Amino acid sequence: MTHSPEMQQIVEAIRQRQRFVLSSHARPDGDSIGSQLAMAYALRGLGKDALVVNKDPAPGPLQQFPGVADIIIADTVENAFDAAIIMECGDLGRTGVAGLDRSFVINIDHHPGNTGYGRLNWFDASAAACGEMVFDLIGALGVPLSVDIATHVYLAILTDTGSFHYSNITPRTFEISQRCLEAGVDPVLVARNVYDSNNMGRLKLFGAVLSAMQLDVTGRIAVVYLDHKMAREAGGTYEDTEGLINLPLTVKEIQAVVFFKQSEGDEYRVSMRSKGNIDIGAVAKQFGGGGHKNAAGCTVEGGIDMLQRTFIEKMTAAIDAPPVGDQA
Ligand code: 5GP
Ligand code: MN
Repeated sequence: MTHSPEMQQIVEAIRQRQRFVLSSHARPDGDSIGSQLAMAYALRGLGKDALVVNKDPAPGPLQQFPGVADIIIADTVENAFDAAIIMECGDLGRTGVAGLDRSFVINIDHHPGNTGYGRLNWFDASAAACGEMVFDLIGALGVPLSVDIATHVYLAILTDTGSFHYSNITPRTFEISQRCLEAGVDPVLVARNVYDSNNMGRLKLFGAVLSAMQLDVTGRIAVVYLDHKMAREAGGTYEDTEGLINLPLTVKEIQAVVFFKQSEGDEYRVSMRSKGNIDIGAVAKQFGGGGHKNAAGCTVEGGIDMLQRTFIEKMTAAIDAPPVGDQA
């Protein structure tokens, strides 16, 4: 277990406090839900009060996990708590929840570029999921690994590694997963709940978006696009596109994917994914966004044709960049 001084300070701060509010990024994913709820169960196991407050509800398939129904959906927290534990957020604004800074902020995250916005900050870019950090913290707090805690840690790892696909995986990822299974997690059930419990509109929407997919001239970059009209016609919603971006990467030749989702008018949410050493996190950063080497996003404005050309250019440069370490 990593016993960093940063984590030790957080252990002390938690021991001294009683009432906690927990939050994570807007449009939560498996790692944000898993990290928050593992932490909430652990705090309650220590006899403390833990309230989870998120800007947006969890995606449908994640609603089936323990404790998700009790998450408070709000964009403001009025009261000050003894501490606000923020997980999975590079900056406090990513929560979309105002008022968290009234409390003593504890920042736990693995996103490169974390701004260190907390009174206490623990940042570890080598963690495959924030859930791995939470696992270590819970161990250091001396809380036994209940099946609910272990389920949420495993959910965080499974989803943030793209089902054990991404390059952020370490031996530790499997050690923690092993501990979760030993604690009673059923990996088949978790996978079925996460990946095999969608609605028909989602499948139709995947069909429509993938049929319209385009490739760059080299066939290495896939460009996918969705607007409100396409979603309506397919009978799906924007939330239903979760995970869609990973599918083009199942084609051997495709190295990177960019997904443009129209927000309104000329504004687009951009998601990117890549294989291996291709750093599209750096591309997202150029547009005011962020993320990891293989999964990143940003929000942009402009004509869609021009935007697509610009992103193909930047992603081509990322694919052709010499691997880190080969540079003089
Ligand atoms: P997604 O494509 O699933 O929305 O995001 C992929 C990854 O990029 C996530 O880890 C997420 O935290 C990060 N990310 C997505 N959009 C943004 C953004 O606008 N700003 C920052 N800083 N990170 C983002
Ligand atoms: Mn994460």
